[in-house]
Amino acid sequence: MKIRIYRPLLVLTSLFFALSLTLISCSETESSEQTYSEVAALPFIKGVYGNPGTLLEAGYNFDALGLNAIFVRSVQLDEHVYETARAQQVRVFVEFPTLRGNGYVDDHPEAWPIEETGEKSPPADWFMGVCPTDPDFIDYRRKQLRDILETYNPDGIFLDYTHWHAQFETNDPILPETCFCERCMARFSDETGTELPDGDLPEIAGWILEQADPQWRDWRNDVLNNWMIDMKTIVREKQPEALVGIFYASWFPDEHDGALYRTLGIDVEAYAEIADVMAPMLFHKMKDHDPEWLSEYTSWLGDLIDTSVEDKPLIWPIVQAHDNPVEVTPEEFRQVMLEGSKPPVSGIMMFSDQALLDNPEKIEVMKQLYFEEIGQE
Ligand SMILES: [Zn+2]
Repeated sequence: MKIRIYRPLLVLTSLFFALSLTLISCSETESSEQTYSEVAALPFIKGVYGNPGTLLEAGYNFDALGLNAIFVRSVQLDEHVYETARAQQVRVFVEFPTLRGNGYVDDHPEAWPIEETGEKSPPADWFMGVCPTDPDFIDYRRKQLRDILETYNPDGIFLDYTHWHAQFETNDPILPETCFCERCMARFSDETGTELPDGDLPEIAGWILEQADPQWRDWRNDVLNNWMIDMKTIVREKQPEALVGIFYASWFPDEHDGALYRTLGIDVEAYAEIADVMAPMLFHKMKDHDPEWLSEYTSWLGDLIDTSVEDKPLIWPIVQAHDNPVEVTPEEFRQVMLEGSKPPVSGIMMFSDQALLDNPEKIEVMKQLYFEEIGQE
């Protein structure tokens, strides 16, 4: 997975040279405090996530808001937003809805995730996932990603919905067991050498959950990792300079009975090895946490990366400004921005443009932070 052979290598070489010289006059402690963003030669990223074109329509300019990056949903990316950002020296990162099946599975029922009963898994609140082994869906997303990369030159692609069908953006998650379609079970059997018993679908699914649970969880995780590698390979082929980010559920591994791995299928370490940028979704209000939780999480992630990940990614969390399920006050928004931007974080974005437009006080908070407090040299 050592595919990253671009800018950072050159930068690392010169950094090493500079460090060798400064070691003479500086203490070792100072010289070892190179942040990830310095290694990647990027400024501290100050972003907004969503449909940033709405800010332009409301009469704002990205640069005048203190932004140096926008994170735009791929369905809302257009020439005007892209060119305006470029003209204002604002980086453009594109969100890509990797395993989101809303809409698609209605027209392609063969891609609908199946529960252990053999029934289609219902939507998890507003989210509908997909069976990640469906070959037509894989082709559909590959083509979509190539189209974006042939139309624009984004600074990065941020893979979103990087989990099996479930709902985690709440303190009361929806965690179905999927996918037990015939294709997934056959692939599991082939790829892990697990011989499945005869029987109907619910019988085989029940056997897997009772007799081959660890292998099943590991296989599901492999499926996701391979999706991320596949998407990254396309980005590297088309635009080697573009970063690959991964948005993912920011549960600690032991929360909700280990559902991060068991149900969502996410191994943070594996994602960190693949991604250039890890973008944990630190939606504190939806998960009923205090603002301090943000820096607890990013510290934990930074330690994990330092100790266990060879190809170290940057950390750019997405934090919550919008009022869900209850109000996030402007002062609380300010707190989560500050907590979410503490080291080892080297970039931050807020969710979303709409929350800013709904409460202009939050625009003033963001401007003040981006111009005066966050990521100052
Ligand atoms: Zn399936």
